[in-house]
Formats: sequence, structure tokens, C-alpha cells
Amino acid sequence: MSSNGDTDHRTKIPKIHIHSSGESGIFANAYLVETENGVVAIDSTLTVSESKSFRSQLDNLGKPLIAVILTHAHPDHVAGVTNLVQSSSTSIPVIALESVERLMRSTEELKRSIWGPIYKEEWISKWTYPNQLLKDKEEVTFDEITYRVHDFGAGGDSDANSIWILEKEPRIAFVGDLMFNGTHSYIADNHLQDWLKNLDKAHGLLSDISTIYPGHGKPGSMELIESQKKYLIAYSDAVKELSSGKPKLTDDTKKQLTRKMEEFLPNAGLSFLIAHSSDAVAAELASIK
Ligand SMILES: [Zn+2]
Repeated sequence: MSSNGDTDHRTKIPKIHIHSSGESGIFANAYLVETENGVVAIDSTLTVSESKSFRSQLDNLGKPLIAVILTHAHPDHVAGVTNLVQSSSTSIPVIALESVERLMRSTEELKRSIWGPIYKEEWISKWTYPNQLLKDKEEVTFDEITYRVHDFGAGGDSDANSIWILEKEPRIAFVGDLMFNGTHSYIADNHLQDWLKNLDKAHGLLSDISTIYPGHGKPGSMELIESQKKYLIAYSDAVKELSSGKPKLTDDTKKQLTRKMEEFLPNAGLSFLIAHSSDAVAAELASIK
């Protein structure tokens, strides 16, 4: 309770709530940006259980959902939209880059065919697609907070990646899977070189950002960019050495790669991704010789 006129200013600074999924939700983050009159969700989790728990976290705030913003099209970030919006009484804007929406539409069936049999009843059977599409550097405003999207194209962990910046001091950024913090990275979509270039681009864009909210792991600052670069370079060097220029690793060299990267990033989650990404990276490295 302030009488100096600061109250209005302070109450308009958003409060960020993190939903960190468990291992079965691939440790994916989704976020709730709470302002005075409502809540904007950034991403939406993977499974039925996680997305319902994310919705409960929203309901506990006692404020309406006013929009959902998506960073990229991978299931661990977009599948949960269906459960997130279905109990809202009004139609909720679901916002993404055009490229992210296209990628969701073109990959939903493929992802279902691969992961549905593994996740069974936890797989969300019908995705909810974005209904408001933006282009690079366009913005949306909710409850007096402006969210601007930056199109990073391919290179991050998917074919279409974006960074969303809240244009309000102190400025913060949601970077999706351009950065993983404290887990192994998914590098199976053939864009390791583009990803490294994008991290340099992100360095310029995020230089005055106070907090970076990644797609997996704890929030941080600019050091997240450097540690992601170091991880990708270590991974790439290890694959280069073990593949001897061939576009695939053997079962044995995949095991060696896993050991190497577990040494590089000890006690980190998602170590199954190390072998999972290896052939894609070997093929990419072989193709640029
Ligand atoms: Zn992810």
C-alpha cells in the first residue's frame, strides 16, 4: 500500500510463474505471465497430465487466461494448448509465427505416429492450432504488456524458432529451445550450424535482457547463450571424431558419444537425446565437407 503513486507502476510489472515438467514431460517449461487483470501462457507442456496440472496452476491464480503464445512447434511445447484453453469460457487467442503454425500442421501426424504408442493415453490426441499469426518483429499487447516476436527461422532445436521479448522494463525474453539449461539438447532436426549462428544473433538481441526463460531448465542470463554454444560445439566435435566423416554412427560409437557428453554435462537430464540426435548431426557434418 503506497501513497507515493508507485503502486500503479509496480502492479503492472508482470509476475512470471514457471511450470517445470517432470521427466515424462521431457522437463519442458511452460510459463504464466501474470499481470493485474489476467494471465498469458507461454507454451503449454507435452502430456495430458502436465497440461492439466499447468491449467490448475493457472486456475489457482484466480485470473482469466487472456492469450497463449507459442515459441516453436515441438510437441513438448504445443500439445498442451488443447487442455489449457478448453475450460476457458471465451475463445482464447493462440499466437505464433506463421512458420510455427505451418510446422505444427505438417508434423502433428508424424509426431503422433512416433510418440503416440509410447505415451499412450498421455498423448494429447488433437492439437489446437494458433488462430493469430505474426511475422518477424510484430507485436501483440495484453493487459498493457507488449510481446514482440523475433523470427529465428531454422536452427534452435526445430525448423522454426522464435524469441518473444516483453517490451517492459526490466525486459525479459522467452527463448524456447534455442537454449537448454542443465539438460542435454535435442539436435535431431538437422540444424546444428544454423543453431550456432542463431546463438550469435541472440547475443545481440538479448544484450539488455534481465532474465532469459529457456524451453528446458532454470532461467538465467546471457551465460545461457555461451553454455549452449559450448554444448553444441562439444557435441559436434565428438560426433566428428566418432563418425570419421560418415553420415551415421554405429551402436558402439553412439555409446561412446553418450559417455563423452555425460562427462561434459554431468548429472544432466535427457541423456537419451545424445544418441537420438547423433545420426542427424553426423549427416549434417558429412554434408558440409
Ligand atoms: Zn522442448
